[in-house]
Amino acid sequence: MENADTIAAVATPPGRGGIGVVRVSGKGIKSLALKVIGYVPEPRYASLSKFFDEDGQVIDQGIVLFFPAPHSYTGEDVLELQGHGGPAVMNLLLSSCLSAGARMAQPGEFTLRAYLNNKLDLAQAESVADIIDASTSEAARCAVRSLQGEFSDAVHIAVQALTDLRISVEASLDFSEEEIDHAHHADVSHRLKGIQAHLEHVLASARQGSILREGIWIVLIGQPNVGKSSLLNLLAGEEAAIVTEIPGTTRDTIRRTIEIEGVPLHLLDTAGLRETDDAVEKMGIARTRSTLEKANFVLLVMDSRWGVTPADQVILDSLPAGLPVIYVYNKIDLLDERSLARVGKGGSEIYVSAITGAGIETLRQRLLKMAGWQPRSMGEGVFMARQRHLQALTAAREYLENAAELDRGAFQPELLAEELRLAQQALSAITGEFGADDLLGEIFSRFCIGK
Ligand code: GDP
Repeated sequence: MENADTIAAVATPPGRGGIGVVRVSGKGIKSLALKVIGYVPEPRYASLSKFFDEDGQVIDQGIVLFFPAPHSYTGEDVLELQGHGGPAVMNLLLSSCLSAGARMAQPGEFTLRAYLNNKLDLAQAESVADIIDASTSEAARCAVRSLQGEFSDAVHIAVQALTDLRISVEASLDFSEEEIDHAHHADVSHRLKGIQAHLEHVLASARQGSILREGIWIVLIGQPNVGKSSLLNLLAGEEAAIVTEIPGTTRDTIRRTIEIEGVPLHLLDTAGLRETDDAVEKMGIARTRSTLEKANFVLLVMDSRWGVTPADQVILDSLPAGLPVIYVYNKIDLLDERSLARVGKGGSEIYVSAITGAGIETLRQRLLKMAGWQPRSMGEGVFMARQRHLQALTAAREYLENAAELDRGAFQPELLAEELRLAQQALSAITGEFGADDLLGEIFSRFCIGK
């Protein structure tokens, strides 16, 4: 990127900490360094410096790191000023950099520059934000693999194979149907099938990654005191929700994320959706209804002694049509022998006890299954994928299906070549080889500032 202006931002989160970092990148680093620290630091050496404001007053002291282009995160000259991590001192240091010629960086602008300078492809750049946003350790590990290029490589293999296949197909454009030998056609079909199989594998891994990234939204519904909080605690493996004997204590929509086998489950604990005149409770109920919009499924918890109550039925009837419901009968430890004998026969119902832990593992596995999570037999190869990637992969798959359909008929190289071209283009958009400007704006504006 030619003539990039100099950008600066506080790269560490707001608040107090041992260290705070101001990061600066661009053409004007050397003159900025002269003003802010009084000298141009030796490349890639940590040196202790005083930091000055524009009047030459000392603001702070700390460590300075200078990474000259192109061997830096952005591919430009980069300066990192590590001061004491307090909001006031970070603001002073940032202001000093701004008066020394930098401007405030936009969200994601450092990573955008890394992408524009070919330090990262687009999928890798996105994984930087995914690492930062990861809500479980499994999601973080998966995003790191994408940053290291595993996902891009898998996409690239398909793009490369498609390029080769297009060359073969387009080479036959000049020949008439009679002239194209059978072996050539068979070879094209064979290679097309290979690419399709590879893409299916990538898509399956990306779907799993998308579950890891987005998590699954579950609305938890049930009457007061049936044991929702106790169940959540047990599923989460920690005592975080309030467990109480007083009905209606969990008044608000509490969002908690628990992790099962690394999959984030965002649980929306609700006040229930009962009729009320209480203003606060009404607000809780309104929130519950809006959360239903994005829920993947509902977890209905009941006391197994009563089962589905009329109040539960009212709520069930008010749910969006088609939203799957898992029926959980809790407190089976309180059932008498006869009722207990009938328990466990139902297929779609789960019987548990938050006190004894009975049935909890079955519930966990059912939640994962509903989330679409495959057991980890797929091993390491889960790619952190976004909706954008899934759409591109699905589009590419459709073009390849069209190509295969054509291929089964008479050999029509023009049409075949066009489907292959479209498939290749869809895939290339993942790594950004065909990145449109508005797409870049959309992706990088969602980053935090300083990244
Ligand atoms: P919530 O209002 O639905 O969130 O219910 P809580 O989790 O606060 O539980 C209400 C009461 O029921 C507490 O005293 C829990 O200890 C008790 N409880 C929850 N689950 C069970 C269970 O499986 N068996 C028995 N015996 N008691 C339970």
